[in-house]
Amino acid sequence: MSVTWEELGWERLAAGVGRCRLPGWDCTAGLVVGEGTALLVDAGSSLAEGVRLRARAEELAGGRVTHLALTHPHFDHVFGAAVFAGAEVYRAVGLDAVFAFERAELRLDAVRNGLPVADADEAVDALVTPRHLVSGEWTLDLGGGRQALLANVGPGHTAHDLAVLIPGSPEVVFCGDLVEESGEPQAGPDAVPARWPDALDRLLALGGEDAVYVPGHGAAVDAAFVRRQRDELAARFGVI
Ligand SMILES: [Zn+2]
Repeated sequence: MSVTWEELGWERLAAGVGRCRLPGWDCTAGLVVGEGTALLVDAGSSLAEGVRLRARAEELAGGRVTHLALTHPHFDHVFGAAVFAGAEVYRAVGLDAVFAFERAELRLDAVRNGLPVADADEAVDALVTPRHLVSGEWTLDLGGGRQALLANVGPGHTAHDLAVLIPGSPEVVFCGDLVEESGEPQAGPDAVPARWPDALDRLLALGGEDAVYVPGHGAAVDAAFVRRQRDELAARFGVI
């Protein structure tokens, strides 16, 4: 790599693995560098942000973004996705239906959260049909011994929550918004509160005690934090 993660304002989490915290909604985008490949986790909140994200990610990876994993169908995570139309795009099964039939809701949610109307219209118009839908788990081989495990651990924050585990030292788990550090986990009308604690149990089983857990919003956390958040959500939603 010719530039370091830090020089571009990214946080390095493990060898070849990092993330940036995007402006506006403090949404995380992750990057995993393989051999001649690069996996991006989430795509930013608008096409313009996707363009900026792609430039930075490709500078860090030394090549194009070849794979994109979308953690869940919220605008701040997916509205930049069309910029990566040439990549292999992975999402949890069911997210295709959201993109096909719930565009108006996605757009409205984005505008309510402060995205300019023109940006929301442009991004919704450009939403693409997903190529790969993950039910259960899917292992991606990124070359050079680098793998990524995509796991459909939801429902919870939404009906279609995908986590991404990167084996290594340490292991890194991109949690999407199943975990939030910078504020209370957001439970909107599309959340499945009764199932959320179970989703976090699956997330903890996936990453184990020593993984670095990367929330959709906020600083990276450990297994103890995720377990506490699981218990708080169970109490908040009255789940035994
Ligand atoms: Zn979300």
